[in-house]
Amino acid sequence: MPTTQTGTNNQATLRRIVETITSGRRFVISSHARPDGDSIGSQMAMSFALQTLGKEVVVVNKDLAPGPLRAFPGVPTIQISNRVDEEFDAAVVMECGDLGRTGVAGLDRFFIINIDHHPDNTGYGQINWFDPTAAACGEMVYTLIRELGVPLTLEIATHIYLAILTDTGSFHYSAVTSRTFDICSDLLRAGVKPSLTARAVYDNDNLAKMKLFGSVLSGVKLDETGRIAIVYIDHEMARAAGGTYEDTEGIINLPLSVKDIQAVVFFKQNEGDQYRVSMRSKGEIDVNAVAKEFGGGGHKNAAGCTADGSIDRLQKIFVEKIRQAIESQDRSVAGSEEGVNGGSHSVTALS
Ligand code: AMP
Ligand code: MN
Repeated sequence: MPTTQTGTNNQATLRRIVETITSGRRFVISSHARPDGDSIGSQMAMSFALQTLGKEVVVVNKDLAPGPLRAFPGVPTIQISNRVDEEFDAAVVMECGDLGRTGVAGLDRFFIINIDHHPDNTGYGQINWFDPTAAACGEMVYTLIRELGVPLTLEIATHIYLAILTDTGSFHYSAVTSRTFDICSDLLRAGVKPSLTARAVYDNDNLAKMKLFGSVLSGVKLDETGRIAIVYIDHEMARAAGGTYEDTEGIINLPLSVKDIQAVVFFKQNEGDQYRVSMRSKGEIDVNAVAKEFGGGGHKNAAGCTADGSIDRLQKIFVEKIRQAIESQDRSVAGSEEGVNGGSHSVTALS
């Protein structure tokens, strides 16, 4: 079994979680609004594990799972609601820096087990288990499931793999560690087929999505340094391409395939002058710090927030903040030995 690197404190926390689960009978599991692969994979793996232990489990999310994920085992049983009215012995909340991120009212009535790998979790649970070194919340769920003594069924293993695959940007992000691969290796032994899972997640789109990608990507702009890509979509563009906003899932990662592009900012019009802003970056460039300045959050390489203002003004502000993040990374690379020996573009120098 892979080592879990949980530390003493985390071991004690894990034991408390195991005790709570063992002594309870009914559990509700929730995650953040607009759930992603890590939310769905972590929740469903946890749900199947609790069912194996003979527990009653209800999974509640504010929003539907992304289209391709609805074909994964158990996902159609997820209840879509903005409130919980039933009674439960405990709530397991995953992937949420604060409870409000669920968009589900009523969870605060329960004993909350808070499981998260975001670096800025507010600690809203009765038990709080954080591991910002985990590449996905799914890694933590793997550890917990092993601790519970539940065997890795194919369903559980598939969901943990889904969580890790998607939250690492298909193993691109710097959060990937040897533990990530140790866990994946165990998941493969449990029967997961990476090619099938990847095809189910990424090769399941419709033609409208491809056309929408075409129209959005042809409008990509670069900042004056050529290192930041600015991507934009509004409702009118989506309609014209015959696609929906849901079809824009994944588009933000594409500009990073250009060698010189170090970061991407994606503005998605909510309504009027309000935008959902998503950011992605390479290496040590910290877009989470930028998102936090606007009341959002996320991870170093993937973060988001909501912002109000004219699009021209917002682009200027975000590009400037991201440029500062790139420059501060440049300075730290230049000051380190790694920089002297090849800098962040050297494959062997990357940690
Ligand atoms: P997205 O750009 O929506 O794919 O989000 C990227 C990452 O940032 C994910 O880990 C999200 O959970 C996190 N994130 C996005 N928006 C927010 C927000 N408003 N507050 C906290 N975390 C966020
Ligand atoms: Mn995650």
